[in-house]
Amino acid sequence: MTPAIYLENGREKSLKRRHPWIFSRGIKKIEGEPSLGETVDVFAHDGTWLAKAAYSPHSQIRARIWSFEKQAIDLAFFVTKIQQAKTLRQEIIERDGLTGYRLIAAESDGLPGITIDKYQNYLVCQLLSAGAEYHKDTFIHALLEVFPNHNVYERSDVAVRKKEGLSERVGVLHGEEPPHSVVIEENGVKISVDIKAGHKTGFYLDQRDSRQQAMKYCKDKEVLNCFSYTGAFGLYALKGDAKRVINADVSQPALDMAKHNAEINHFDLSKKRAVFLNADVFRLLREYRDQGTKFDVVIMDPPKFAESKTQLNGACRGYKDINMLAMQILRPSGTLLTYSCSGLMDQVLFQKIIADAAVDAGRQVKFVERFEQAADHPTDTAYPEGFYLKGFACKVI
Ligand code: SAH
Repeated sequence: MTPAIYLENGREKSLKRRHPWIFSRGIKKIEGEPSLGETVDVFAHDGTWLAKAAYSPHSQIRARIWSFEKQAIDLAFFVTKIQQAKTLRQEIIERDGLTGYRLIAAESDGLPGITIDKYQNYLVCQLLSAGAEYHKDTFIHALLEVFPNHNVYERSDVAVRKKEGLSERVGVLHGEEPPHSVVIEENGVKISVDIKAGHKTGFYLDQRDSRQQAMKYCKDKEVLNCFSYTGAFGLYALKGDAKRVINADVSQPALDMAKHNAEINHFDLSKKRAVFLNADVFRLLREYRDQGTKFDVVIMDPPKFAESKTQLNGACRGYKDINMLAMQILRPSGTLLTYSCSGLMDQVLFQKIIADAAVDAGRQVKFVERFEQAADHPTDTAYPEGFYLKGFACKVI
């Protein structure tokens, strides 16, 4: 018999709204002995059947819903979900000319804990939940049914796996090992992706729409691209006819890839039009401020500063500090393009932080445009947590 979870009275409400998480404190009793990631039936306190879920005995999120319908969680289930995710993205793939995109965005695509990024014919998986791990073989099989002749590589080297009782894992799951560089295209820009050693699954696909919007602020401008990684914002700035772009990051491999990216796009790189600087952004901004070096556009796309609620205060100080410094090194009527990928920091709080930064910088600042994660990173209405990336274009008077 399938093991079962019975919820405390009232705890069925979020499931009725189709939110996919069941917290440990919401569980009244467990029938049977579900193993790590095994599929369980979920019942309300009165015995009403609610859903099929994956059991995560080590996590506060004790179960994640696979389906609100009475159906088997098998090959056909995964094929349907992957097909749906593919269809959902077809329009934007064609619109933006994408050969790299997020195919599966975990909970937002109804597959909790499963992220798949597609770079050409390489499918890169991050399996972050016990349920994803439990069904791994079936899921990979399903993936290959929808995408025959593709290679599958795992990048489950993420610390949150520990919370699920899983160890980190990387390696080939099917087909060939990815080369050092797989070149994808988006909006006519070529970008090299290092699937094996890059951040996350190799690239920050989620900033694609923001990069496209950033481009129009860069014509004939001097641009500072902070936390550049492999230079993606900088490439769009060059495409948008920036006069000069300085890409700054602490990772030399990322900067080497950024330089390579500028070359493969055949931009005019004469007169030091693109610079790749190995520098700590916090220190660099202070140096520029103290020396009086100014820019027309500053792009500020830092790593996630808050991983948990306890880190949120520190994260706020970090965001305020770098944005204040960015405002101080902007010429009059300059543009600050600033982002936060910390899901815990919502758009309202981020806007307040930018306002505080303006006060401290002694500059008058206007929000002129708002950004969010690219369209292949959708947010399901039932799962607002899926909205995590926000940004602003600000004019700094
Ligand atoms: N803007 C990038 C993604 C940024 S990811 C894009 O569009 O692709 C964050 C980057 O910040 C990483 O490349 C990391 O190496 C870099 N980083 C982290 N701390 C840093 C610091 N103190 N100074 C400079 N770079 C830093």
